[in-house]
Amino acid sequence: MSAEQVTSGISAGAVPSVMPVRVGVLGFGGLGQAAARVLAPKREMIWVAAADKKGYACDRQGLNPDACIAAYSASGSLGYLEPAGALSSNSIGDLIERAEVDGYFLALPNLPNTFMASVAKQFIEAGWRGVLVDAIKRTSAVEQLLAIKEELLAAGITYLTGCGATPGLLTAAAALAAQSYAEIHSVKITFGVGIANWEAYRATIREDIAHMPGYSVERAMAMTDAEVEALLDSTGGLLALENMEHADDIMLELAGICPRDRVTVGGVVDTRNPKKPLSTNVQIAGRTFEGKISTHTFTLGDETSMAANVCGPAFGYLKAGVALHRRGIYGLLTAAEVMPQFVR
Ligand code: NAD
Repeated sequence: MSAEQVTSGISAGAVPSVMPVRVGVLGFGGLGQAAARVLAPKREMIWVAAADKKGYACDRQGLNPDACIAAYSASGSLGYLEPAGALSSNSIGDLIERAEVDGYFLALPNLPNTFMASVAKQFIEAGWRGVLVDAIKRTSAVEQLLAIKEELLAAGITYLTGCGATPGLLTAAAALAAQSYAEIHSVKITFGVGIANWEAYRATIREDIAHMPGYSVERAMAMTDAEVEALLDSTGGLLALENMEHADDIMLELAGICPRDRVTVGGVVDTRNPKKPLSTNVQIAGRTFEGKISTHTFTLGDETSMAANVCGPAFGYLKAGVALHRRGIYGLLTAAEVMPQFVR
């Protein structure tokens, strides 16, 4: 760590600790709106900025989730919010320039698969310093961020990647469970997601379709809403996914836990029923120092939604990221390397 980084870390840390962390949310679809609701009762964080594809809103006194969701639902963009909104074809760039934010949750679609890395570069090029957290899913998308980790470090950005549910909460649980073993044999993640209506999470569903045999990110991105609906009609609203390209593998490999080929991810998404089709769990199998073979299983409560299991960890990692940033620790970290902090 250079002296310059340490100095700037101290200056970032000079913000009195009683001041809430100023949070921005990029993307105001299913997860972005849930993020606003998750933050509403928090005292340690204040939600001051958000952007969607067509506009943005910012207010240093805090944005009102109900008013923002109403404006977005009625008109299709936060830009219509009075008086804090503005329409823009460069909403992320404009928000970076105008809003005073300590950390952003990137609840953006990663469509195309290079989009999140391009947003990270936009922050670097703008000379912005602070904390970025994503809930990115694909291994190849995390590899693109790894390719710019030196640039993130030099820019004074603490970027935490893979901080949703999977990757995220379940990857971190695997990293914790691994501590019982001398050798990890397998990490098997199986998720069940139930949502009442696919249109509330269009990007999530398109990105999941991209994992189905015969599909790709490009093909899923090019599908019209009618084509997505026709596909879902043909499967009774269910998406069954196996051997997905999921960044849990590279994250556990980078954390030194096991080679990536020992990590598998699959699951079932029901797009017509908020009840989970199966219980989300991660099984960590290994050998203890005594030579015993065993499996730890961590299962999420069936009542917890995808939104709760993504947004909760994302802000827990954002809080951890702010603490690191204040200590001058920049660059790229994953959810398997850092313990999230509970946001009060
Ligand atoms: P969504 O389709 O509901 O919403 C996307 C939002 O992003 C919209 O508000 C849209 O206007 C905005 N947007 C799109 N392009 C933009 C641009 N260029 N500039 C600014 N805003 C833009 O998305 P969602 O279903 O909430 O999913 C968001 C992401 O979260 C997806 O990438 C999904 O894969 C990921 N996700 C991760 C996990 C996990 O556990 N890690 C779980 C679920 C979803």
